[in-house]
Amino acid sequence: MAVEIVRSTCPHDCASACAVDVERLAPDRVGRLRGGRWNPYTDGMICAKVARYAERTHNPDRLTTPMVRDGPKGSGRFKPIGWDEALDRVADAFDAARRRHGPQALWPYHYAGTMGLVQRDGIQRFRALLGTSLQHDTFCTSLGDAGWAAGMGARKWGVDPREMADSDVIVLWGLNAVHTQVQIMGWVARARKARGARLVVVDPYRNPTAEKADMHLMPRPGTDAALACAVMHVLFRDGLADRTYLAAHTDDPEGLEAHLRDRTPAWAARITGLSADEIEAFAHLYGGTGRAYLRIGYGFTRSRNGAAAMHAVTCLPVVTGAWAHRGGGALWSMSGLYQLDTSLITADEHRDGTQRWLDQSRLGAILTGAASDALAAGPPVTAMLIQNTNPMVTAPDSTQVARGFAREDLFVCVHEQILTETARMADVVLPATTFLEHDDLYKGGGHTVLGIGLRVITPLGEARCNHDVLNALMARLDAPAHVANEMSARELLEETLRLSGLPEAEEIRDAGGHDCATSFDVHHFRKGFGHCDGRFRFHGAWRGAQAAVMPDLPDHLEIIEAADADHPFRLVTAPARQFLNSSFNETPTSRAQQGRPTVFVHPDDAQSLGVTDGAPVRLGNRRGSVTLHAQVFPGLPTGTVVVESLWPAAAFPEGLGINALVGADPGPPNGGAVFHDTAVWLRPAGVEAKAEAPESWAAAPPVSPPPALETA
Ligand code: SF4
Repeated sequence: MAVEIVRSTCPHDCASACAVDVERLAPDRVGRLRGGRWNPYTDGMICAKVARYAERTHNPDRLTTPMVRDGPKGSGRFKPIGWDEALDRVADAFDAARRRHGPQALWPYHYAGTMGLVQRDGIQRFRALLGTSLQHDTFCTSLGDAGWAAGMGARKWGVDPREMADSDVIVLWGLNAVHTQVQIMGWVARARKARGARLVVVDPYRNPTAEKADMHLMPRPGTDAALACAVMHVLFRDGLADRTYLAAHTDDPEGLEAHLRDRTPAWAARITGLSADEIEAFAHLYGGTGRAYLRIGYGFTRSRNGAAAMHAVTCLPVVTGAWAHRGGGALWSMSGLYQLDTSLITADEHRDGTQRWLDQSRLGAILTGAASDALAAGPPVTAMLIQNTNPMVTAPDSTQVARGFAREDLFVCVHEQILTETARMADVVLPATTFLEHDDLYKGGGHTVLGIGLRVITPLGEARCNHDVLNALMARLDAPAHVANEMSARELLEETLRLSGLPEAEEIRDAGGHDCATSFDVHHFRKGFGHCDGRFRFHGAWRGAQAAVMPDLPDHLEIIEAADADHPFRLVTAPARQFLNSSFNETPTSRAQQGRPTVFVHPDDAQSLGVTDGAPVRLGNRRGSVTLHAQVFPGLPTGTVVVESLWPAAAFPEGLGINALVGADPGPPNGGAVFHDTAVWLRPAGVEAKAEAPESWAAAPPVSPPPALETA
């Protein structure tokens, strides 16, 4: 068969949702993937890990048949069974759980291993129709979303990233684009070539993006709001604030200016570790042009004060009035731009209002009963269906997560592509398709183009897509009738497009995606921000259970897990170039190119600890510890260490990954994982740690199931 090129869209947890051209070598085999030039934003660029996707699709470790556990939990011993038997076993176990404790004892758990709306979000329909526990999604955007909405309001979009070509200054704040959204660098290059644009990177270590910057600001982790406040202080002080814009579009510019009067560069320098001169220089560069494009990343928001930091950062283009200019303004996420009717996929209207929401980041506490509020006063979780995520590695406080999954009374079904750490803890494992083997549609969080990915090859072995598995289980569990449960994934995709007023899938695919970009006025909020009065709120409109914690006006919030005498370092678990969360950490090339689990340590810190370059070291806190290798690296502040992540758990001698050190307490105001907000100690491997009291559980005896609350 001649090689065919088939258009598709990258499904991974990445805002770029790149257009890809897939080489189809045979009906069941792909070759190389290349960037499709037909998406006007991604424009032919994809990352290297997806370019070699054949290695992932045809990985000899792919699961090809359903399996049932044939040994102790976590042993990795399974035996193959047929699909009907597997689905019957899972349905029987789910039915037993709901008969004993009610339907909310079942917790379907998912995340963003695929960003396709059909295959990712169908599990919401499963929850709604069966009345199970719901999932509060807190891994990724909840802290950033809260901070964005506090000032900007409910409209979650921003300036079209193609406008970067018209920018004089581009600021990447908490965003390592080279590792995570490589297309941004293409647009930076255009702006540099066309206009001599300057690139500023705000990030706590000198990563490959920072290396390309004209100005790199390296604040201590968790101090970004202090930097933003001091920049605004300078903007007001030096006549760089656009007072006309402020009067027309904001709630209280005079109140903000007064509040910032003592948030000087010297004040921020003490908090951030930057020099006052660096802050002054950044403020003047940023405020010196209206064409300043602020591309806001996720990194700095994954902190206990991350929502407050996001609010402070979103104030910057408002103070300068950059929103009014072409090439100016900001982008955090475009996800609110796509006006899609996904009601058939999610069946949200079937939720009955009594179903509890469980925080995905508190999985360990939920399964072990370690925190009394984690179960939201409901029954224990005794059965789980897991799709698109590997929480044994990706969830915080992973030692506690592992203890929870080890519960003998917990039934777990994992639907996966390979035998991940989480799948190893399952009772039944079901083989899942990759995006090349099923149909879906994709929003680009970092741009405006809706993408389509239709099946390119036949499923590997007996792999089935998420949609088919959910429907098969719902049929066995006598779920209420729903039209989507009778559809194929392709039919559901087409009907979703039709309900959204969009063309059919093939038409969109062949046209190079559907560009949802709208007018300059909408993207630049010229008709008002997302509050009812259309004004940006410097007085943050905070919502959530912990709203009282939040600052009224933008400010540095001292609620991080601060370093102390016993834990003198702040740990950032930054994204690795060759992995995407835990995806791709199974492919040999990604692992080989990434090297080994490594902690970056400043030379001064290394010297004071007696750590040499390449030496094995131990990193820990009261939650646990891991062993990895040191890389002495001058490109970060003293007192900060960085571990590019996420390595497989087995890459660490302890058998648990870096998230064993990360707390699972919900960041205010409305929950959120605090992946980059961790205090740790560091010492050469072999040097005994002094005994630490466990935070809550680390030295506790084996866990018992949470007390059963009988429900009607
Ligand atoms: S950059 Fe992101 S969206 Fe693009 S191919 Fe890589 S993982 Fe996929």
